[in-house]
Amino acid sequence: MRKRIREHVIILKHEGFDWEMMRSLFPPGDPRSLNDQFQVVTITCKSKQEDLMLYNLVYTNGKSENELASISGLNTDEVNNFITKLDKFDLLEKVDENTHLSASEIDRYNRQLRLFSLIAAPTEIQEKMKQAKIVIVGLGGIGGWLLYNLASVGIGNIIGYDHDNVELSNLNRQILFSESDIGKPKAEAARERILSYNSTINFETQVLEITENNIESCIPSDTSAFVSTVYPIEHYANKYCVQNGIPTLAQGGGKYSPTGVTVMIPGRTGCFDCAKDFRAEWKQLFTLVRARHGNNYAPTTTFSPFISLCSNIMAIEIFKLVTGFSEPMNRIFIDPITWEIDINKNYLERRTDCETCGKYWR
Ligand SMILES: [Zn+2]
Repeated sequence: MRKRIREHVIILKHEGFDWEMMRSLFPPGDPRSLNDQFQVVTITCKSKQEDLMLYNLVYTNGKSENELASISGLNTDEVNNFITKLDKFDLLEKVDENTHLSASEIDRYNRQLRLFSLIAAPTEIQEKMKQAKIVIVGLGGIGGWLLYNLASVGIGNIIGYDHDNVELSNLNRQILFSESDIGKPKAEAARERILSYNSTINFETQVLEITENNIESCIPSDTSAFVSTVYPIEHYANKYCVQNGIPTLAQGGGKYSPTGVTVMIPGRTGCFDCAKDFRAEWKQLFTLVRARHGNNYAPTTTFSPFISLCSNIMAIEIFKLVTGFSEPMNRIFIDPITWEIDINKNYLERRTDCETCGKYWR
């Protein structure tokens, strides 16, 4: 029988901790407040072996008596004595043996599970991430950095599309690829790289361009979130996601900058077609760059620090979306001329006259 320290029990290993001060930091009702449901216990371990056992009961998904004996080097009687003491004060709970997370996954994500324990049952959050399905169009700059983020934290199902090959000029920002990948399809090189990094997730890629004709088969209706690294999002892609209730994260979407992130949730926020104003402003910048450099140039996200920042914000918002832990509200815009960064918490404004999403409002 595996056991762990109960949720909402906080173990203090050092006396003199100012618990009341901690309580007073945040007012009642604030999600960060540690309210009365928390039980605070100070435990003084008699030996390093006991300390190791306690660590494993707090920070892992539970351990059996045999596992604790193996970890600590103590005999079964000594382990049972320790467990009995903790049980006496009702500090332990049995671990659900049917958890969908393997021991290896618990180990891999151990550090972030500690963070999750501040907001909810950590393994439940991790399981939601494992069940999530994210579709990404474009596996180069934004898509590449985002893939690293999603794969590292354990998003369980990712589908990626890209129809380009890796070029030397990609290597200033497209973090997935190496010089040896030049000439290879990005979809294949990305898959190889990501699965060598985290082989426990399902990551499918296709060398394919999404079009109006194939979008239905490319973005499953049970997709948790669709990420478009193409700016602006094609009208048919925006329309498909609105109709199917699929949250969408777009590159760009603010002022005249294609560099940024916007989260759109059907029924709750505006859709990409609501944003006619900044599309017009963006076209002005497009015209300016082409006037200077010719028709082959467009003001795209081509600077690694910009796109890594944007993709990090995307990953955080995707985490909020798939776990339901918090409202995904952050938008970020980077001015391509002044390099000023604006992060705000406003949803994309909705337009009552939007042809695409107007009738889907709740
Ligand atoms: Zn709209």
